[in-house]
Amino acid sequence: MTSAPFPGPGQDDGDQPPLPPGVPPRDGTGYGADDAGADDDWDADADLARFLEDIEAGRAQIPEETRGPEVTFSVGETGDVDPAVLAAMAGPDGLGGQCFATDKAADVMRPGPLLSALAEQAAQDPGALSADELLGLVSAARRLQNRAEYLELTAVAEFTRRRAAELEAAKARKVPRGCRPGEFADQELAIELVSTAQAAEDRMELATALATRLPQTLAGLAAGRIDGDRAATIACYTQCLSDEHAALADQVLAAAAPALRYDQLARKAAALEMKLDPEAVKRRKEAARKAGQRVQARREASGNMSYGGRELGTADVLAAKASIDADAVALRNGGLAGTLRELRVLAFLDRLAGRDPLDRLTATPDDGSACDDSAADPATGTGPQTPDPTDDYDDDYEGDDYDDWGSDEERPAGPGAHPDGPAPLPALINLIVPAATLLGWSGAPAEAGGWGLLDRDDTSQFVQAASMHPRTRWCVTLTRPDGTAIAHGCARGRHSWSPARDRDGPGNPRDGTDPPCPTPEQAAQLTQLLHGLNVTFAPIAKGNCDHRHREDRYTPSRTLKHLVRARNTRCTAPGCGAQAHCADLDHTTAYPDGLTCECGLGPLCRRHHRCKQAPGWRLDQPEPGVFRWTTPSGRGYTTTPTVYEIG
Ligand SMILES: [Zn+2]
Ligand SMILES: [Zn+2]
Ligand SMILES: [Zn+2]
Repeated sequence: MTSAPFPGPGQDDGDQPPLPPGVPPRDGTGYGADDAGADDDWDADADLARFLEDIEAGRAQIPEETRGPEVTFSVGETGDVDPAVLAAMAGPDGLGGQCFATDKAADVMRPGPLLSALAEQAAQDPGALSADELLGLVSAARRLQNRAEYLELTAVAEFTRRRAAELEAAKARKVPRGCRPGEFADQELAIELVSTAQAAEDRMELATALATRLPQTLAGLAAGRIDGDRAATIACYTQCLSDEHAALADQVLAAAAPALRYDQLARKAAALEMKLDPEAVKRRKEAARKAGQRVQARREASGNMSYGGRELGTADVLAAKASIDADAVALRNGGLAGTLRELRVLAFLDRLAGRDPLDRLTATPDDGSACDDSAADPATGTGPQTPDPTDDYDDDYEGDDYDDWGSDEERPAGPGAHPDGPAPLPALINLIVPAATLLGWSGAPAEAGGWGLLDRDDTSQFVQAASMHPRTRWCVTLTRPDGTAIAHGCARGRHSWSPARDRDGPGNPRDGTDPPCPTPEQAAQLTQLLHGLNVTFAPIAKGNCDHRHREDRYTPSRTLKHLVRARNTRCTAPGCGAQAHCADLDHTTAYPDGLTCECGLGPLCRRHHRCKQAPGWRLDQPEPGVFRWTTPSGRGYTTTPTVYEIG
């Protein structure tokens, strides 16, 4: 650690750095050797502002030929070093990128406008920096980022506090649920951050914990020593502690956090929590189980999917794992090809689909001795499963598109009947067809349930499986060249469909240059399908509405619902990804003042439907499919009709 602490402007010892030759001192800036340090009325803020102005205007460049004086700082001092001194160093006679080298001024400088200005300047020409200086710049940028996180969380904490106070006051006045000011603060923040409400709520909880219970961690964030993720880790492992214990943990963990990797910090925090209050660990797990226990299907980043339970009991998961492991071992010992890892996947999927994986063995040598390297009993829960015909097929399909699915005679074959092929499944198949060609297959990926996009091969398989199911509905949406919906028509029931044989089948992105131009074979196939579906198209209003689909009743007809949902395929709240077919159809202006018409309806997920009706929220639909949201903060956000990705 180097020393030579730099005197502040209040100390007049005449050791201020001299101006380099050729750079005239400026009036009253305190930069020059003549006046630096002596003035009691020296204004650091004004000085800094001028300095930043200069940098902004390109005036404070360091002359290329001129090297500034060597100045070093005691690392311990720099936390509170006077900005004027640093400004003097970084000014015309400053150190440039050199100030980011080890132990130089900026290498340890507190994050703020000055460090930000220096970092901006240094980053303009990274090629001129040594590796030492580059890493100093990396570290400086990280401190600035941590500081920015502090600023954001400070604002979030105050916003949260204010909305919570409004909510408490409303509760005290006995205002009913759904009408209380402050009730949807998480949604309000989520819209601004373009995040899920859950993410916004996490943010609010973190901000509040830091502001109220974790002052040391907050100070670390403010000083740039602790980043947001480390702060969140500390908040997580202290959330169930008493205030007193939390204060203790805050002190210990905030001091340790800068030097620990995330996993190390998490381990230390967990150990401390356990030591301070073992019951807190239990409470935290219980809280997470209550809030988060569920079975979840998710889209992987790769395009595949995952399916698993969250926040489950440890013993339950270990028992389930042992059972699947035992299945896999039994399959391997029975002679099925594949690694244990692959066989485990097979067994897992079979069990979840209600099939017995051991049926895959031609001879079923199902005895416990097969499980040579597993403690589990393979016979547990492996009895033949009788499908329950009243089971829901998929509770992700909640939309009223499915309301009138009758109890049909044509049930798909039960589990076990298709050990390898896809099982028929009911689905809403959306065909998106550019009106300009009418005969183009959409290159738009399909969506299955709420899980996201399917690629071309998955789409083929999915449509094939759906086309075998009598409860499948077919919707065809025609699109304008700009990708918005122009017309929609529907059909239902089983329609034989098989994926195109060649690799240029439906969903073909081709080279992405032209609108889809189907091969004659594909065109014939689509024509045949559309013909078979016997679809009549209804136009979708855009810009103005001639009210041709207006209905004199509160609940819109199926046709009108489909037109609105084809126009806006998602909840119309800003940033909300909820699919329209699972969402409420909301009268933007309450019926009967608002029309049951394309221009008066829009899909809203349940949460945003409730938000919209709460005090301070406002929603307008200035033209069909265009929604203007105003949140209680008075900020406005506009969402527009869905643009289908075609081609
Ligand atoms: Zn439809
Ligand atoms: Zn209308
Ligand atoms: Zn929504």
